[in-house]
Amino acid sequence: MLPCSQMSRRRGYTLVPTMRTLLVILAHPDDESFGPGGTLAKYAYNGVAVHYVCGTRGESGTVDAERLNGYADVAELRTAELMCAAKTLRLASVHFLGYRDSGMAGAADNGLTGSLHAAPLDEVAERIISYIERLQPDAIVTHDQYGGYGHPDHIKLHQATMRAYTLRYGIEWRLEPNGLWSAVNQDAPAPRLYFTTIPKGLVKLGVRILPLLRQDPRKFGRNKDIDLVQIASWDIPVTTRINTRRYAEIKQAASACHVSQQPPAQQSRIVRFLFRRNQGTEYFSRAYPPYQRGERLETGLFGD
Ligand SMILES: [Zn+2]
Repeated sequence: MLPCSQMSRRRGYTLVPTMRTLLVILAHPDDESFGPGGTLAKYAYNGVAVHYVCGTRGESGTVDAERLNGYADVAELRTAELMCAAKTLRLASVHFLGYRDSGMAGAADNGLTGSLHAAPLDEVAERIISYIERLQPDAIVTHDQYGGYGHPDHIKLHQATMRAYTLRYGIEWRLEPNGLWSAVNQDAPAPRLYFTTIPKGLVKLGVRILPLLRQDPRKFGRNKDIDLVQIASWDIPVTTRINTRRYAEIKQAASACHVSQQPPAQQSRIVRFLFRRNQGTEYFSRAYPPYQRGERLETGLFGD
């Protein structure tokens, strides 16, 4: 079968859409579902080839002992959970960069040979470039410079993806005071580049509400290592808001595949409450092509 782009040329149609490709580069099995899962499903269910390059197999995630029944180790269990999610989201392919999961900042795992945290930046960037060349994406999604909630693996993949753009396309980055990225060599034929993000208003609301529920906003999450007070101080401008309402159930089903990584029940209820008003919307910050002052908020990742 021919790619759609060739079909449209041969038949002389101009209205047949060209097959698009989205490459998602995130650190762990579950980042794709808990994060931009609605957007991935929306595109995948509408004919876009959505490929996932996952940095690690989530070896450092804490897992209840009974969950490991039938699996050799945490990596095998979390790989299986990711494959379940990928099927649910209809991802075109899943690849692993081949690094070991690191813990949060200061964790002993971070210095281990083979960990993403300890890997040379250019080596990680070169592995990313090999996937860019193989898959030829029109757009790429990765973590923001704070790694969403500060996870060293997320930050490393952000930096490595930015470095890949420098090595592959000669793009030099500069972070502007308003939190947006500008780039030298703006006309390079590079894929559009986006970071996943959430509006900081939601995080600030969480910081106010959690103490009322006797929860410490500085010790949030399954491992109590997420500091919402610090996260509320990080500002990633939203440039792109995607309506994923019709795909909320698919995202939920994909998230449910990651059985070993579900947050404690009470926190799940709090997160659901916080996101209730925003359910069905996912947020991104565009780095390439750089977002221009006064540009309208985007509603998709492909510039239309
Ligand atoms: Zn992660």
